[in-house]
Amino acid sequence: MEKPNQDWKARVEELAHTRLSDCYQCGKCTAGCPRGAFMDMPPTRLMCAAQIGEIKQAAQADSIWRCLSCLTCSARCPKSVNVSGVVDALRQISVETNSTSPKSAKIVGFQKAFLRNVRRNGRTNEVEMATDFEARYFFRRFDVMNVINTGMLGPKMLARGKMHFALGSPVKDKELVKRIFAKCGVEL
Ligand code: SF4
Ligand code: SF4
Repeated sequence: MEKPNQDWKARVEELAHTRLSDCYQCGKCTAGCPRGAFMDMPPTRLMCAAQIGEIKQAAQADSIWRCLSCLTCSARCPKSVNVSGVVDALRQISVETNSTSPKSAKIVGFQKAFLRNVRRNGRTNEVEMATDFEARYFFRRFDVMNVINTGMLGPKMLARGKMHFALGSPVKDKELVKRIFAKCGVEL
């Protein structure tokens, strides 16, 4: 059954450790956001939607995946609202409820490939991660151009030492990493 709006609000507040009602819509978070101009719903609008309980609408926004987690919004808020934490909470709800904006599918797909790689190895292996991402993205969208573009980027990155075939020094306790992921409980 659908959660009532109040339950969604409480969930955001719990995840973000902040009080949505503290926001008085001054707009300072949006004014300082380096990604605000590229967002369909900038931070102030996300806060407004969250305050009135339109969590689903906010969780479907493309902007939550454009956020850089730079924390400028939280630092500038005169009411100490954890705006960046609210964006993080909306991302989590977006994934949990499968309501991610189709426009953001590539960003979400990449973030999941990154997390799968960390869960498996304890750290990232760029070649393995890129292969995982491209394979899943290709089969979901049949986006040949994306595979070609990434394929052309690979040799340049390898030549500049930005990609490595080897994993590097292994993480001592991979089981611990797996347990952390299991506790987070996010489907990847
Ligand atoms: S800066 Fe703080 S009070 Fe102002 S709109 Fe953003 S969240 Fe609300
Ligand atoms: S954390 Fe995200 S929403 Fe906040 S200022 Fe940075 S980019 Fe903008």
